[in-house]
Amino acid sequence: MSDLEKSFAELFPAKQIPFCTVEYSGRLKAYNARIQMRGNYITVVASKTWRGISPSILKGLYQELLVRVYKIKKQTIHMDLYHHFMRSLPRIAPKRKTHPVLEQSFHRVNGTLFMGILEQPNLRIGRGVNRLGTYEYASDTVSISSILLEHPELMDYVMYHELLHKKHQYTASKGRSCHHSPAFLAEERKFPNAMVLEQELQRLVTQMKRVWFW
Ligand SMILES: [Zn+2]
Repeated sequence: MSDLEKSFAELFPAKQIPFCTVEYSGRLKAYNARIQMRGNYITVVASKTWRGISPSILKGLYQELLVRVYKIKKQTIHMDLYHHFMRSLPRIAPKRKTHPVLEQSFHRVNGTLFMGILEQPNLRIGRGVNRLGTYEYASDTVSISSILLEHPELMDYVMYHELLHKKHQYTASKGRSCHHSPAFLAEERKFPNAMVLEQELQRLVTQMKRVWFW
């Protein structure tokens, strides 16, 4: 039995095991994966970074995908191992990307709101108006939209939000993950003038959309 088949059998002891295939792709982002279910066929497409990872962690990945696609609530020891592995990735991810303006923003925020204890993640400029910032655990990368380049205060606020993701990480249980825990949101409000900045961000996004699309 393949690891994917074993993962299925552990989750659904009474069900017949479908035809299972695992493919590795260089096009998916690091440690991403997708699942497809068609009739009696299940295909998992996993980023090639998954190659050679311990079978017990891989089983956790497969089970995480299976509980989502079958919409069931179950938590297994392998799924715990998988999340433990995912949470360890930011620490071991190589730090190669940076950007002078983002680096200044990182140091301001780290110094004033994290007492300088956060390690600098990869920093990159993203495009797009709807996603002002993102944090990617697998590569330890904060992306900040280019529209914030001329708004240092707003940039710091978005940087702070993304760095809180690095600090708090996420909790996961039974196929559901929570990225904005109550503790996260409480800490987010500690940013000076958070409410005002939130409104200014909204205004900027609306303005930019007008400039770009109308
Ligand atoms: Zn967020």
